[in-house]
Amino acid sequence: MPQSSLPLDLAMPSLNRRDILRGASASLLLAVTPLGFAAPAASVVAVRVWPAQAYTRVTIESTVALTFKQFSLKDPERLVVDLEGIDINNELQSLSSKVGGDDPYIQQLRAARNKPGTVRLVLDLKAEIKPQIFTLNPVGEYKHRLVIDLYPASQNDPLLAFLDDQNSDSKPAPPTPPPAATKPEPENKDGSVDRSKMKVDRLITVVLDPGHGGEDPGAVGPGGNHEKTVVLAIAKKLKALLENEPNIRVVLTRDGDFFVPLGVRVKKARAVQADLFVSIHADAFTRPDANGSSVFMLSEKGASSTAARWLAQTQNDADLIGGVKFDIKDKALAHTLMDLTQTATNNDSMKLAKSMLGELGSINRLHKQNVELAGFAVLKAPDIPSILVETAFISNPQEEQKLIDEAYQQKMASALHKGIKRYFAKNPPLAKTRMAQS
Ligand SMILES: [Zn+2]
Repeated sequence: MPQSSLPLDLAMPSLNRRDILRGASASLLLAVTPLGFAAPAASVVAVRVWPAQAYTRVTIESTVALTFKQFSLKDPERLVVDLEGIDINNELQSLSSKVGGDDPYIQQLRAARNKPGTVRLVLDLKAEIKPQIFTLNPVGEYKHRLVIDLYPASQNDPLLAFLDDQNSDSKPAPPTPPPAATKPEPENKDGSVDRSKMKVDRLITVVLDPGHGGEDPGAVGPGGNHEKTVVLAIAKKLKALLENEPNIRVVLTRDGDFFVPLGVRVKKARAVQADLFVSIHADAFTRPDANGSSVFMLSEKGASSTAARWLAQTQNDADLIGGVKFDIKDKALAHTLMDLTQTATNNDSMKLAKSMLGELGSINRLHKQNVELAGFAVLKAPDIPSILVETAFISNPQEEQKLIDEAYQQKMASALHKGIKRYFAKNPPLAKTRMAQS
């Protein structure tokens, strides 16, 4: 058993109070033992591996912030990470067994004591990678985390890597795409271009954004089910339905259980010139009886400065957070604000949101009868009609059971499918050149 797992007073009887205070003031808590070397005061409490084509992430969670040194070796490709102020324990040793044979980047991972107070991780790699190693401060239920992200070296831009990935399995544009399945109805209330008279003569790109992923489970239901899992299942079902349409291609911002920063989600949508962006979530609230579906879009006006500041903060931190859990008291608000950093705002978003709300109302109680607006301004609204759907409350025991039920997931996907179709029927997308100017 490592010394560090004992209470301080048992593990280090020679320490006086001043030493403890001095040590604690530094982020790395090291103590000098009678033997004269640094004894570890940090303990690894959990290790996780999140493999994905975009990147593989290794997370090491510890009681105290870890310091590290890294270097790479060639022939064969290896990454070596020395964790300092720590000793090997069962958790760290379990890391090697958490790397699956299908990991795109890691062949094998070994953890061993290198010298007293230093554990060496050796990652045997399947290809040359660009590592990004960083630490995260405790957030929510997570303690300190050291994160090792492995990006493919040949394609270091995660977005471009993502696009390569998508291009390899997306369906090609049909040579003569037929018009939208439903006949558009005239609509010209606000004096804008009467798009209902236009025909869809190009491939429509719908980006579906299953919320959260990887280190970030999203909301967790009373039965222990994760929002990230149910929303991915719904998104995949919706993708299949949409791809039955002759003129729609679908891009998922994530197709597995890994974390995608909010900014990257929006970048992906823009990179594929999305016609629609639909973020899919499951709500949570402190009261277990809260229930129903909701649809959000961004408000163009009226932001409280506090919320705007909070938003800016989350955007700046998004790449570092990697997984977010909030205090239960402000969870609902924080969750929504966080989610909405990825949505755009314009008339089309409202039309899409209304169309979606109508369909959801046919399969579930509506939490609110109207499209909900977030009370803050975005820094710069993207030009993609964007909405965020809270499918149901995973914090509600009955709705949690529905959300994990495959038949209900299919029903939900079908409602979202109808909502999207109804929107396109009334609002055929503009030609790309016009869209770029608007
Ligand atoms: Zn969410």
